[in-house]
Amino acid sequence: MKQFLFFLLGITMFISINHTYYNPNEIVSFNEQLQQQRDSLENYKFRISSDKLASKIIGKFNGIEPEVWGENIDDVITRIDTEEKVVALTFDACHGSYDEALIDFLIEEKIPATLFVTGKWIKKHEETFVALSKNPLFEIANHGYEHKPLSVTGQSAYGVKGTKNIEEAFYEVFRNQVLIKELTGEYPKYFRSGTAYYDDVSVDMIYALGLKPVNYNVLGDAGATFNKKQIVQSMMTAKNGSILLFHMNHPQSHISEGVKKGALKLREEGFKFVRIEEYDKFLRE
Ligand SMILES: [Zn+2]
Repeated sequence: MKQFLFFLLGITMFISINHTYYNPNEIVSFNEQLQQQRDSLENYKFRISSDKLASKIIGKFNGIEPEVWGENIDDVITRIDTEEKVVALTFDACHGSYDEALIDFLIEEKIPATLFVTGKWIKKHEETFVALSKNPLFEIANHGYEHKPLSVTGQSAYGVKGTKNIEEAFYEVFRNQVLIKELTGEYPKYFRSGTAYYDDVSVDMIYALGLKPVNYNVLGDAGATFNKKQIVQSMMTAKNGSILLFHMNHPQSHISEGVKKGALKLREEGFKFVRIEEYDKFLRE
């Protein structure tokens, strides 16, 4: 009888240990809990460090009604003012995947570029992001924490809902500044909103944060929809000081093939590729 009771106890313990420690669902939920705790700690640290600046910036712009909404509105940079035969390639990492073939091509050909990266993308590709930030060919710029159009009234662009007030607009920009600083040691100098839409109040706020809003004057891939031929054709319209916009988060698209051909052609024509920061004083709307 005693032996039988021990046997039963053993079975019960075995089942309960298995249940407690080896239930995959519970392990998943435990990891989620840990992640949530980590996130809330990060949020807390972030709040403390940014509260002062936030209240200053939000106080400065609160209640100001925007007058315009669009892509290349006043004070948004679209080009480099130069007679030199240079162009700046810029690549947005909005969300989703990583176009490794495209970036590998830039590295192989030693083509410098400015990478506009969102917080969303960084969190998904942290290792890749850190490696790219350490490569002297590339300059890291801010593409927003959540890839939202930058509005103080909740305007939308291409069906993407923008930030709904000055506070949200501030955090959309600043949270990603902080994230990038944490991972690279440096704050970016340039910002491009998700969808590249802004209102004039948001643009003023970007400058107040010590950043410059940088869009483009050559639409390189039309939101990753162009085929190879269209991409090359578009690149061939570049002039001295053009800023070209592409995406680095669509490996299934024709972008890497198009950029390969287009960049080599531009180089043949005598163009040199530069990063935005190298021509900071010559940036114009
Ligand atoms: Zn984007």
